[in-house]
Amino acid sequence: MSVLPTYQVLDGKRCGDALRADIAKGALEVRSKRGRAPHLAAVLVGSDGASRTYVEAKVKACEEVGFRSSLIVLPETITEDDLLHRVKQLNKDKELDGFIVQLPLPDHIDADKVTLAIAPEKDVDGFHPENIGRMVLGLPGFLPATPSGIVELLRHYHVETAGKHCVVIGRSHIVGTPMSILMSRNAYPGNCTVTLAHSRTMDLPALTREADILIAALGKPEFVTGAMVREGAVVVDVGIHRIADASRKSGFRLVGDVKFDEVAPKCSWIAPVPGGVGPMTITSLLLNTLKACTH
Ligand code: NAP
Repeated sequence: MSVLPTYQVLDGKRCGDALRADIAKGALEVRSKRGRAPHLAAVLVGSDGASRTYVEAKVKACEEVGFRSSLIVLPETITEDDLLHRVKQLNKDKELDGFIVQLPLPDHIDADKVTLAIAPEKDVDGFHPENIGRMVLGLPGFLPATPSGIVELLRHYHVETAGKHCVVIGRSHIVGTPMSILMSRNAYPGNCTVTLAHSRTMDLPALTREADILIAALGKPEFVTGAMVREGAVVVDVGIHRIADASRKSGFRLVGDVKFDEVAPKCSWIAPVPGGVGPMTITSLLLNTLKACTH
């Protein structure tokens, strides 16, 4: 007799597909009004395998919802000035609604300078300080794709958040910090009491055991164990890591920051890796691009 799992999955693929069906309708409307489809460009510097995979997935997702997409591949050796010049050209391109510069960039390029150079109205990754400021103030703008995807995932599955204690592990500018801001907003999903943990946090397991909602975005494979999670918690695994696995055709398998087999049985809801946050990040990028056409 098979035993049914006690937890429910926050299925980013299923939620993303539902949202993408609406985005495809929105793309058709844009096309009929303006005579051209929403257009997203992705800039990839160098030939890092993982970055290329991410960018190609974004380009493919654009095509699937009827957007136009352009992949701009630049050499690893491009100078910072040349990349900034390229960004300025994209800012001015009237045929383009939004663009992203895939991170990380090579060491000789200052990623902050590049982010600052992107016109806020085309910054569909939501990394520009103007968009971050708008998020903090609750003003319209582009939300960073990964945290906004997590919010949409929680909304899709009607996960209760008001009054809950949410612990976010990781304070990066693109995931942890904006996630903590969104979960503490006076909105749904939100209205949580938020604790933002990082590498200097003392006794992290004691803290995570207090979490009703635990969002793991620290970038350490299978770091969060069963002993760190309380019964009935909602766990969102943001981390993504390729682990060598000779038994797979690809030669690797994907794991998150959470030890799924130990943690899932304690959860009420869990966003797994793969199939949780990843597809939602791309969906948010598409949502932002559609928004860029209509504001
Ligand atoms: P990051 O910039 O490396 O930031 C990691 C954060 O985790 C830092 O704030 C760091 O603290 C904290 N940290 C590291 N070790 C810790 C520990 N032992 N205990 C507590 N905190 C610790 O990473 P990121 O860009 O936010 O990405 C995090 C993970 O999410 C990565 O695996 C990345 O690949 C993944 N990711 C996935 C998606 C997706 O779409 N699925 C999107 C973006 C990122 P300090 O600040 O003190 O150093």
